[in-house]
Amino acid sequence: MIQLLSLQLSFIDILLIITGAGLFSIMIYVTIISIIEKEYHAARISFLFSVLIIVPFILLYIYDFPSKPVVSIVFLGAIYFGLLLLLIPFNPKVKRAHQIPKQKYDERDIMFSRNELKPGTNFFESYYSDKPEIKSIDDKFREKPGLLSPDSYFYHPYSFASSHANLEIIDALKTLVNGPVSERKIKTNAKKIGDYIKTWPKKLGAHTVGITELKDYHIYTHKGRGDLYEKKINNKHPYAIAITIEMDNEMVQPAPKAPVVMESTQQYLRVGTIALQLASFIRNLGYSARAHIDGNYEVICPLVARDAGLGEIGRMGLLMTPKLGPRVRIAVITTDMPLELDKTRNFSSMIDFCGICKKCADVCPSKSISFEKREGIEGILRWRINAESCFTYWCSAGTDCGRCMAVCPYSHPNNFMHNFIRWGIGNSYIFRRFALFMDDLFYRRKPKSGKLPSWIDI
Ligand code: SF4
Ligand code: SF4
Repeated sequence: MIQLLSLQLSFIDILLIITGAGLFSIMIYVTIISIIEKEYHAARISFLFSVLIIVPFILLYIYDFPSKPVVSIVFLGAIYFGLLLLLIPFNPKVKRAHQIPKQKYDERDIMFSRNELKPGTNFFESYYSDKPEIKSIDDKFREKPGLLSPDSYFYHPYSFASSHANLEIIDALKTLVNGPVSERKIKTNAKKIGDYIKTWPKKLGAHTVGITELKDYHIYTHKGRGDLYEKKINNKHPYAIAITIEMDNEMVQPAPKAPVVMESTQQYLRVGTIALQLASFIRNLGYSARAHIDGNYEVICPLVARDAGLGEIGRMGLLMTPKLGPRVRIAVITTDMPLELDKTRNFSSMIDFCGICKKCADVCPSKSISFEKREGIEGILRWRINAESCFTYWCSAGTDCGRCMAVCPYSHPNNFMHNFIRWGIGNSYIFRRFALFMDDLFYRRKPKSGKLPSWIDI
């Protein structure tokens, strides 16, 4: 018998209505957010879910049959048990999640430095006579058109011209990374000035700021780029401030097409400018400070940012932040101004999630990202990306690719819905498995590269 408009609602009926309406509303909310984010596949799936999810509740509510109370209780019990299972904190320890490098790195070995070596120069000859085994590997990227080249695959006159403009400004700023220190030293309180230093950059547009001790393994042994090539680095600053800034999701989603390199260079410029401001501010207070900005580093920014509590290094080798994943750019300031340190945070849930996710490895056009477990490399457990094949792809594409960053489940926009999911990923081993399944379902295992924003596509 149908009890469509019965006014005598049992407790189970009320629970059915509340649960059904709740789940329906959540799926409609997900649909709306997905439409706003222009994730139309996710919007279709969530709308379908919202319709399907409500059907058993309606049927249970309107139809009367002898075992209805039992069926309703089992049905509701299964739903609440499932929710409980997902939400209860459950985090088996990931062994050796946080790894401390045992050695220092030489900036001359990074791909950008190798790319700047000009054949026929002394630096070129000396580098490859020391490392003949990588000469033929590097020759491969030299055969390609190169980053921001008009002959590259994703050449776009406006985006590339904008990227060049950004890089020109960054280059012009390099003289400001260091400067004279005021003779008048202001006495500061490590906590209060630390708070100031962490708040001001956010007002200037930064996403997060953290402070850590500057460790030996943060510092390159030698300069590998620019006029000071080969110079031994002698940075004795005891403290480092790491700043992250968001890369715009609309610009990242078309990766590896042209907008991604425009956005990378834009955010390197913005975060670099903030670092320069902060370094100059500290010097004005009478303390030594150096900014480390794109193309002008003495330190390995992702490692500093990780130790400053801003994230963890994931499978793709980039800093993964809790709210934007790898969709950030970083700058660092080193200083001798006494500062209260932030705690290094344990993001072992990220390491666990990267262990099962592998989405970046699946989409990488050059197959540079490992599908394997973390391996012991130079005395620590980590994933190693193939920097040479990645960079060779960049030199064909003309952009810094970023496809891995675009598809990473942590990279979704910083809003309530995605933050809740990221919270769940951090909270529970079971939630992580569920979230990955849903991410693949809603956003696809290998999402297609997004369209160029209409204002760029001219
Ligand atoms: S895509 Fe997945 S595996 Fe790759 S870095 Fe992001 S979370 Fe880790
Ligand atoms: S930037 Fe592109 S080529 Fe390099 S690892 Fe990421 S997806 Fe692969």
